[in-house]
Amino acid sequence: MTAPVKPAATVLLADDDAAMLKRIREHLAPARYQFLEASDGAAALSLLREHRPDLLLMDVEMPGLGGVEVCRIVKANQTETGFGFVPVILMTARRGGKVEGLELGADDYLVKPFDLLELSARVKSMLRLKALQDALVEQNRALDLANKELEQKREELLRLSRTDGLTGLYNRRHFNERLEAELARAARYHAALSCVMVDIDHFKKVNDTYGHLFGDVVIKEVAQVLKKALRDVDVLARYGGEELVALLPETGPVDARRAAERVRAGVAGLELTCELKGKNVPVRCTASLGVATWPSPTLASPQALLGAADASLYRAKQGGRNRVEQHQD
Ligand code: GH3
Ligand code: MG
Ligand code: MG
Ligand code: MG
Repeated sequence: MTAPVKPAATVLLADDDAAMLKRIREHLAPARYQFLEASDGAAALSLLREHRPDLLLMDVEMPGLGGVEVCRIVKANQTETGFGFVPVILMTARRGGKVEGLELGADDYLVKPFDLLELSARVKSMLRLKALQDALVEQNRALDLANKELEQKREELLRLSRTDGLTGLYNRRHFNERLEAELARAARYHAALSCVMVDIDHFKKVNDTYGHLFGDVVIKEVAQVLKKALRDVDVLARYGGEELVALLPETGPVDARRAAERVRAGVAGLELTCELKGKNVPVRCTASLGVATWPSPTLASPQALLGAADASLYRAKQGGRNRVEQHQD
């Protein structure tokens, strides 16, 4: 593998003295820099914007926009969307220009007339600074990207750790966490909270008749019914096997019963087909539901609320299935 060829550094020379420009260029020629030339500050700025050179070597005394002003503009616009970082070496004939130049943010200065060897050394050192700065910017960019990717992976992992693989609903562990949190919130704001337990009826028979894989399809379809029948703010989970559960924040007993009834009707209305011995067979299913609502004098804990929904579900089974039963105090 061959190492990538590093492009030659680009040096922008700005001086109103053409002879000076020529001398500098000729002296720096062995280093094989690419040169851009400007004879005033305005031209220097437009070349900077267009070519983004690696170094600006600039005379202080130029007609119109002088070197000090240009330097101030360049240093005030060092962002990636502006000029980026460009080292500036100011050249001045003035005594005291040294102090002024550095105070205005020039990275280095030369007092005319200067030694040409000195010039080469300053240019080289400033280009080294620029290369380091570029590498740092590139490293930061790569780090930012890596951080973003890491953050995305973390979020994805968190989502997966809360999700039931078959239905895409929350899993039991996350549901239990949410139950605690939602009940605490309801208590704090004196709001209602309802819990609806859903259990598919005679599901063993579905598995026995149509196979376990089709049983999985049924569970997924019932999960979709819950999604459609309930709101986005409701917490839907697979509690286990063919048992699903929903938490309905700010929902009293009347609305909770209505919501549960919507789910029941949705499940009973599912028109499924299963391929059995080469034939498409229509399959129907039903579910039983138990509803409990907080606040209630007998339901003081998350476990009690869940237990009451479960007990109601049991009564729905006893009462003949495909129905909704509700906890009464
Ligand atoms: P009931 O009306 O009283 O609820 O009857 P049931 O047959 O639905 O109840 P039971 O709890 O006896 O049976 C549940 C069945 O669900 C037994 C189990 O094999 C099956 N099951 C549990 N998890 C899964 C699953 O992920 N996929 C499939 N296909 N079946 C499952
Ligand atoms: Mg001049
Ligand atoms: Mg069950
Ligand atoms: Mg069941």
